[in-house]
Amino acid sequence: MSGGRTMLQIKNYVKVTSIEEAYELNKKKNNVIIGGMHWLKMSKASVGTAIDLSGLGLDQIVETDDQFEIGCMVSLRQLELHEGLNAYSAGSVKNAVKDIVGVQFRNTATVGGSIFGRYGFSDVLTVFMAMDTYVVCHNAGEIPIREYAKMKADRDIIVKLIVKKQPIKVAYIAQRHAKTDFPILACAVSCMNGVWSAVLGARPLKAQEVVIPNEITTPEEMGKYAAEHVEFGTNMRGSADYRKQIATVLVKRAVLAAGKEQ
Ligand SMILES: Cc1cc2nc3c(=O)[nH]c(=O)nc-3n(C[C@H](O)[C@H](O)[C@H](O)COP(=O)(O)OP(=O)(O)OC[C@H]3O[C@@H](n4cnc5c(N)ncnc54)[C@H](O)[C@@H]3O)c2cc1C
Repeated sequence: MSGGRTMLQIKNYVKVTSIEEAYELNKKKNNVIIGGMHWLKMSKASVGTAIDLSGLGLDQIVETDDQFEIGCMVSLRQLELHEGLNAYSAGSVKNAVKDIVGVQFRNTATVGGSIFGRYGFSDVLTVFMAMDTYVVCHNAGEIPIREYAKMKADRDIIVKLIVKKQPIKVAYIAQRHAKTDFPILACAVSCMNGVWSAVLGARPLKAQEVVIPNEITTPEEMGKYAAEHVEFGTNMRGSADYRKQIATVLVKRAVLAAGKEQ
């Protein structure tokens, strides 16, 4: 309820010194965790305490032999520029974020805010769902991102993402009316342990994974199968029928880009 307010109001601001402090503060319903505030600032809510995680060193991407740990305060720009993550994902992470608004925006929009929102239009959720990714929450612990995407928002805090390094083929393609607009359709495909799957986001519903059966082998058939097995909706950017048609093509192109042998 905005109660006649024309903009977001914040009464108190706390830069926390531990995640536990943030978690305790965030239990109260009208307190809120702040990431880059790009989404939050558009609300007209009255916030009790804005909880700032920026003092906790969670703005780093740490690569080890087995995984990437991506802190919740990592910016979309850091994702775009990280050499190891983009080498591992064959540029998919960069491709997923490069058209989100502009560089200045991506310098401050965070991974935590992007994943917590589980936005239907999300390029960020779509690309991470195509990899072996886990959302690490302070209270609930490590949750596979494909499960997290289906869960309702609660008061837990995303501490970081973990992307486990698996032998992978992966590619990301989105369709937009114009650069920097929300996507009409977001598409990530990957092959892990010999299994191909396609993740379709901005349907305009949130991203959903389709596992492609092994007997479907050509990129064209894989595109058709994926498009047949998710539901599409209509909004101002495109109709459900249009989305279904471009899903067929984007999945096919992404499978080829990921390097499927013919
Ligand atoms: C104009 C505009 C265009 C956009 N276009 C695209 C697009 O094309 N593609 C795309 O993928 N995205 C797009 N986005 C979304 C954007 O990329 C970010 O995902 C979004 O702004 C949220 O990130 P933030 O850091 O600003 O989060 P905030 O606005 O600060 O927070 C968003 C929500 O997440 C919560 N939150 C933040 N961090 C945490 C945490 N660590 N744990 C728990 N909860 C947390 C907040 O409490 C809040 O509810 C767009 C956003 C805007 C405003």
